[in-house]
Amino acid sequence: MSHALLEVKNLVKHFPIRTGLLRRVTGQVRAVDDVSFTINKGETLGLVGESGCGKTTVGRTLLRLIPATSGSVSFEGQEVLTASRGEIKQLRRKMQIVFQDPFASLDPRRTIGESVAEGLVIHNVGTRQEQQDKVAAMMERVGLSASLLERFPHEFSGGQRQRIGIARALVMDPSLLVLDEPVSALDVSIQAQVLNLLKKLQDELGLTYLFVAHNLGVVEYVSTRIGVMYLGKIVELAPRSDVFRRPLHPYTKALSAAVPVPRPTATRERIVLQGDVPSPANPPQGCRFHTRCWMAKDICRVQEPRLEEKSPGRWSACHFWNQV
Ligand code: SF4
Repeated sequence: MSHALLEVKNLVKHFPIRTGLLRRVTGQVRAVDDVSFTINKGETLGLVGESGCGKTTVGRTLLRLIPATSGSVSFEGQEVLTASRGEIKQLRRKMQIVFQDPFASLDPRRTIGESVAEGLVIHNVGTRQEQQDKVAAMMERVGLSASLLERFPHEFSGGQRQRIGIARALVMDPSLLVLDEPVSALDVSIQAQVLNLLKKLQDELGLTYLFVAHNLGVVEYVSTRIGVMYLGKIVELAPRSDVFRRPLHPYTKALSAAVPVPRPTATRERIVLQGDVPSPANPPQGCRFHTRCWMAKDICRVQEPRLEEKSPGRWSACHFWNQV
């Protein structure tokens, strides 16, 4: 039986919109609007959706990199959102993040060795020698030679820098890694290498991942379960093998129709979504997807569908989920 490592309940993150000379709050961007999910130990939960759907904000909010508006996040049974400064410091060791742009997250004036060791130094973990040994071992683990530790970030390729970003997170021995678009800035040829490295490290170190990305093929490749987000909400949540093969939400179907089918004999219906994503500052009434949904009926414009478990492990927020 699997156990939840992380439990997110009714997470909300609204960003105030300030306008005018007095910077008065005139509205709210509802970036994350009542999102709930769990991540079991050892699994990868993929969060996917178009840009602006709130997936990145979910990852940052649950790590307390930005404050939540409301909700609860429980990590190994401990509440994260109301944890004290000292507690957060401890929690951060166990919950690490890898960013999309490894270059931006590495200080150009510090050697790679210094950057990777930073967390150990801040948290005062072990002696100087132990820190250096740990950093060297982690470099080798991510496929880089420890002899490169005296070099600077600009001397590395994008793929190497992302390996360094991963080493930097893993040196703290975390149990949860939030991977925020970890391969989107990389050449396609390098993406598979980094994804395979992440899978290998997960097996070897028993890691749990929240994998945030806009690329469905990438998410499908690494995830155990997948949550599909649209305008701040999860609209479908299901095991990887089901979610794109037999979607229970029209939005998932539309997204997956754009992904190349790996088997030449298989076909996928082609659906082209009409219209732009509405603004999260002013989401449509009723079902937020109704302005772009080809299945929308009157009820969709007035009644918001709740995310419900339609069959074991398969959640959908659509009034007509069984007709998708
Ligand atoms: Fe489309 Fe209605 Fe389902 Fe929303 S509830 S996805 S508008 S069919």
